[in-house]
Amino acid sequence: MQSAASPNGTRQRLLPTLRRWFDTGVASDAGLEPAAARRIDWLRALPFAGLHLGCLGVIWVGASWTAVTVALLLYAVRMFAITGFYHRYFSHRTFQASRPVQFAFAVIGAASVQRGPLWWAAHHRHHHRHADQALDPHSPREAGFWRSHMGWFLTRGAFATDFARIPDLARFAELRWLDRYDTVVPLLLAAGLYGLGEALQAFAPALGTDGPQLLVWGFFISTVVLFHATVTINSLAHQYGTRRFETADDSRNNPWLALLTFGEGWHNNHHFFPGTVRQGFRWWEIDMTWYGLRMLAALRLVHGLKPIPAWVLAKARS
Ligand SMILES: [Zn+2]
Ligand SMILES: [Zn+2]
Repeated sequence: MQSAASPNGTRQRLLPTLRRWFDTGVASDAGLEPAAARRIDWLRALPFAGLHLGCLGVIWVGASWTAVTVALLLYAVRMFAITGFYHRYFSHRTFQASRPVQFAFAVIGAASVQRGPLWWAAHHRHHHRHADQALDPHSPREAGFWRSHMGWFLTRGAFATDFARIPDLARFAELRWLDRYDTVVPLLLAAGLYGLGEALQAFAPALGTDGPQLLVWGFFISTVVLFHATVTINSLAHQYGTRRFETADDSRNNPWLALLTFGEGWHNNHHFFPGTVRQGFRWWEIDMTWYGLRMLAALRLVHGLKPIPAWVLAKARS
């Protein structure tokens, strides 16, 4: 922590770091030494800490069925955008969508506060290429649970988007914009929830909610639960569950994580063959994202859903 902890080093990095909270395009920490890249950037991680502290607001705002319902709905819609689009579409290209549909779900994904779609896909492709090896950004094998779960997300080296890994996505200007200003959509969501809560208090007081309450439940609590549910796939789904396929990594199939993450818990299936839109490979392996994508396909919003090849199922041990 030499340079970051010393008063001079902190002062030198303060302004660029504050700017990077809002504009990730500000000259990044590219070319860091590996040891420096692995260190947590505490200053830049403050908004992430603030997101968690915001949940404590529940002490003052209390709860209502309206607020809890909004939190659940926002969890579901954003989890679908993360697994269906950030993961299965942008990272793995397992189906096709028009440019407007692609953008619409990139915006909903960005509302999850898991950075932009290009950042997400670039890191995830890197994970598959080096799963549970030295270059994997979030393997629990050496680094342990907390680093694989969230520590890696806050390291200096993890903030930049490596465009070399996502040339197919970087050609879309609107996606690059969303990725660069990745706090815009979350701030709009927070402001929108506050405004909605205030409007409901004025025009539908029977619903028993208000601006601060919808902000705490719909934004802070829903987003924090969504984040920790998503990253269980990096931490727990590489440690706990069964292995249907012989893969070089430690990925597991875990039905509980699959329920929580709308299908992502079938992670050993996914690591063995990431080229299909499905992650549950058997009919009883509940995969909510796949059902949702089939619905979008029936509505002609997406197409070309890639199936599981027969040779993949032939290699299954169960
Ligand atoms: Zn994995
Ligand atoms: Zn994947």
